[in-house]
Amino acid sequence: MYIVPEKEIAGLVTRAQSFDAVEKVFASMSARSAYNFPVIREAIGHEDALFGFKGGFDKTGMALGLKAGGYWPNNLEKNNLINHQSTIFLFDPDTGRVKAMVGGNLLTALRTAAASSVSIKHLAPKGAKVMGMIGAGHQATFQLRAALEQRNFEKVIGWNLHPEALSRLDEVAREFDLPFEAVELDQLGAEADVIITITSSFDPILMDAQVKGGTHIACMGTDTKGKQEVDAALVARATVFTDELAQSITIGECQHAIADDSLSQGDINEIGAVINGDHPGRTSDDEITLFDGTGVGLQDLAVALAVVDLAIEKGIAIEVDF
Ligand code: NAD
Repeated sequence: MYIVPEKEIAGLVTRAQSFDAVEKVFASMSARSAYNFPVIREAIGHEDALFGFKGGFDKTGMALGLKAGGYWPNNLEKNNLINHQSTIFLFDPDTGRVKAMVGGNLLTALRTAAASSVSIKHLAPKGAKVMGMIGAGHQATFQLRAALEQRNFEKVIGWNLHPEALSRLDEVAREFDLPFEAVELDQLGAEADVIITITSSFDPILMDAQVKGGTHIACMGTDTKGKQEVDAALVARATVFTDELAQSITIGECQHAIADDSLSQGDINEIGAVINGDHPGRTSDDEITLFDGTGVGLQDLAVALAVVDLAIEKGIAIEVDF
């Protein structure tokens, strides 16, 4: 088997490779040649940690395996480690033998950013000029970099509960030679052509009345029951897409509009159907499109598989006779 340590990931995989792997696996999921296994997530009663497994099999990409990991809230303070910890295990689909163990921390950020970026490619207005960010935590900079590659944006605007963190977004905008402005939510909803929400909020932040038409919104922070980033009425007004329907209605942004009956399961489309040409995606300039990116195990496996191939090619993978 091969081991690809966390410290090697940054030098191995590019945003373009992550994008490609995630776009392909969303297409396979919609074509029913790839599926995710039921997610396990447990409060283990030690260190206040949440631990679980997300796995799946992609028959087209031949990715079989799981991501094991979770959230240790005391890590940073006690151990000088990041609170989210994960490791990806890949298996040979022909024999069941373990194929690789890959550090999953940076890959999680890359595959999550790739998902919203795929949605922007396929659903955002072609002439989008203003990129709006809600959230400025760990994931937000990855999200912004990947998003800015999809359209000829002229400006980035952002809002965060803790405004001092917005300087991170300013730095990313500078990397792309774009101006950044910290704004209130009314201005963000009125000006942005594309909006990414990436927070750990449990209450709606962006309200329906604040958003003009023609916007593409990628809701990326809601990945647990009870979390919420946008008004359920905004979800109901939008043409809705997701990575996986089962997660969207239970742990994703759509859970709230489903619960208040303003959205039905039949209203939710798979992003993979748009990639495969089975759904037209955006059909008018004033339509609001919304991508509910809940995060599936197959995204991790797809990107990890690409990393293993690159690590073997570059002689970085550690081979173990296991
Ligand atoms: P982080 O802790 O680094 O940042 C959290 C962000 O949320 C900050 O911008 C913070 O200001 C904001 N925030 C916190 N409480 C808020 C509130 N009550 N109202 C408004 N904003 C609030 O976290 P992160 O690593 O950047 O992750 C952000 C979210 O994305 C988390 O909910 C995480 O679980 C989720 N996530 C989703 C996926 C996916 O695939 N969809 C993948 C990774 C992380």
